[in-house]
Amino acid sequence: MAICPQCPDQVDSSEEDTMKVYSPLTLEKLARQRLLREEALAISALKDLPNILFPVMFEEAFTNGHTKVLTAMIPVWPYPYLSVGRMIKNLNLETLKAVLEGLDILIAQKVRSSRCKLREIIWRNRYHDVFGICTRSYGGLPRFMTQKQPVQNSPGCGVKKEFKVTTQLELMMGRLDESATYLLQWAQQRKDSIHLCCRKLKIQGLAKATVIEIFNVLHADCVRDLELLRLRIEDLAFLNPYLRQLNNLLHLTLNHITDTLSDSEISQLPTFQCLKSISVTTVSFICGNLKRFFRCLKKPLDSLSITDCVLSQSDLDFLPYCLNIFELKSLKLAYISLCYLHLEPLRFFLDRVGHSLEYLELKTCGIQDSQINILLPAISQCFHLRAVSFCDNDFSLLFLKELLHHTAQLSQLEREIYPAPLECYERGVIHTHRLENFCPELLDILRAKRKPKEVTFETTRCSKCTGYYIYDLETQSCIFEI
Ligand SMILES: [Zn+2]
Ligand SMILES: [Zn+2]
Repeated sequence: MAICPQCPDQVDSSEEDTMKVYSPLTLEKLARQRLLREEALAISALKDLPNILFPVMFEEAFTNGHTKVLTAMIPVWPYPYLSVGRMIKNLNLETLKAVLEGLDILIAQKVRSSRCKLREIIWRNRYHDVFGICTRSYGGLPRFMTQKQPVQNSPGCGVKKEFKVTTQLELMMGRLDESATYLLQWAQQRKDSIHLCCRKLKIQGLAKATVIEIFNVLHADCVRDLELLRLRIEDLAFLNPYLRQLNNLLHLTLNHITDTLSDSEISQLPTFQCLKSISVTTVSFICGNLKRFFRCLKKPLDSLSITDCVLSQSDLDFLPYCLNIFELKSLKLAYISLCYLHLEPLRFFLDRVGHSLEYLELKTCGIQDSQINILLPAISQCFHLRAVSFCDNDFSLLFLKELLHHTAQLSQLEREIYPAPLECYERGVIHTHRLENFCPELLDILRAKRKPKEVTFETTRCSKCTGYYIYDLETQSCIFEI
């Protein structure tokens, strides 16, 4: 806990909000807007519209709510994909209905326009998080597909229908939003020709009827990414049989699950055959149960992130013996108090993953001088590390220097974050001039061995305003950040 020197009379600087960048409308844009005002004219002009203008015209019609134009554009869409980014304005039930109406026309047509290449509509999908309208699919799938060929699915999707609509489904407070509800029902009624592909499923709060409805329509094999948020024990028990169907799940996120689970309840959690990453934030049952929880791993894990949980000594002791974790590329332990634990098991663990680890974050773990000393030999052997963060731990200047002597050996490092040494704080106040004095010498330790790219030293956050200071390699001075 510390307070920054400028906190008492911190001025609210909201000037930036009032600054706006104005760009003049191009003539082409004006022409498009004018055309769209005359919807009938716009629709009849589609046949002469060059392919390259389809995405901009679609975006214009979308953001301005010209739904009739949207509907008319679908049956002549000249690309295999139509991606509607999450951030686009007017992403609502009306625009969704207009797009699906266009797809209905396409499904019903006996003879299709030779121009139409549309195979897949990607609606608000995390796996393709573009800003506007895009004509490519994520992951470099083939751009050209001939008509009447079933959609080429990415591995594991396995469903071949004439058209595919890809989306993510989010159950918030137990409910789907009105667009998702509509899409689900629409796809259910057109099962023969539409594959509704859901890559990401997020469940926050539970309504049993909605879960049943979702799993009636979606193909469980398509789901790659599952996030379970704020669920109770009984919710998990209800979900288990459904989650067991998610055979191709790659990423599991558990967030704010604060009920404690009994041993048998934990062992009833589903196992996922091909899980690649686990992220756990504020989950109570992890404490003392890491071993039981990791039983779900069947293939080597790429990424493990544990944030804001309590870990017991037995959890740490288990880590180096956990199977299927030795090809880990990313390890994050953050907001976990490690200061009262023996860190030797963590050192053995780092020894074992040293050949594969590319990202290591030990942030806000309260790690002390003597503890980092234990980890140093292992850290200096992680030769593939590209990014490290040790910020917000309690290192004195002496041990911070030791750490830097070890990370200086790691030639692949591109980004490094270190805590400001304890000497930068006195009576709970951050002394930035001290940080400014220490940092050149600290950077020299790295420079003696290699050319560092991005290095920052960060102070702890101010307990009043949550601001903090960083000193970085580029500016070579202390900057206040919020
Ligand atoms: Zn402050
Ligand atoms: Zn699918």
